[in-house]
Amino acid sequence: MHARLTAKELKEKLEKYIPLMEKLHKRSTDIGRELGFIFCVKDQNIFPSTVVEGESREISEFVGCEPFDATEIGSFHTHPSPLGVPLPAAQDLCYFMERGHQFLCVSGNLPYYIGCWEILDTPERKEFEKKCEVFSQCKDLQDCWRKELEMEEEMRKNWNKILRTIIEKPIKD
Ligand SMILES: [Zn+2]
Repeated sequence: MHARLTAKELKEKLEKYIPLMEKLHKRSTDIGRELGFIFCVKDQNIFPSTVVEGESREISEFVGCEPFDATEIGSFHTHPSPLGVPLPAAQDLCYFMERGHQFLCVSGNLPYYIGCWEILDTPERKEFEKKCEVFSQCKDLQDCWRKELEMEEEMRKNWNKILRTIIEKPIKD
């Protein structure tokens, strides 16, 4: 187990991957599919694992850090639709919390932006995380959608107690 990195350390280490995230966001918007990768950490260094592409819209299988003999610490993925907001969806957050990540980065077109957030270790995060199991129990699409909306509301209500901004950057053309 690696030591938790501070927000300042994360910012410094993530800055150099912004051009890669910009490049992937543009490609993702061109092809209309999500692209993303897991960030690995080894000896306090952060680096990206293999870039993966979503089947249609959502990425179902990320490549972790085992091939690099490293530990997963975070992720990046795109929201390539014209209305894709550069914010994590409730299901995104649940998914990466379950993988034990310390941060996540998301890019979007509305606005044309990349954001990275630290996932905080707070009681509010624990409460949110407990409710994530609703996503594995929905009855049909409509039920899933309703649960997504409820979780989105829960996430927004406690946004600053669950997430702390590390990077906020407009994408350069
Ligand atoms: Zn997403």
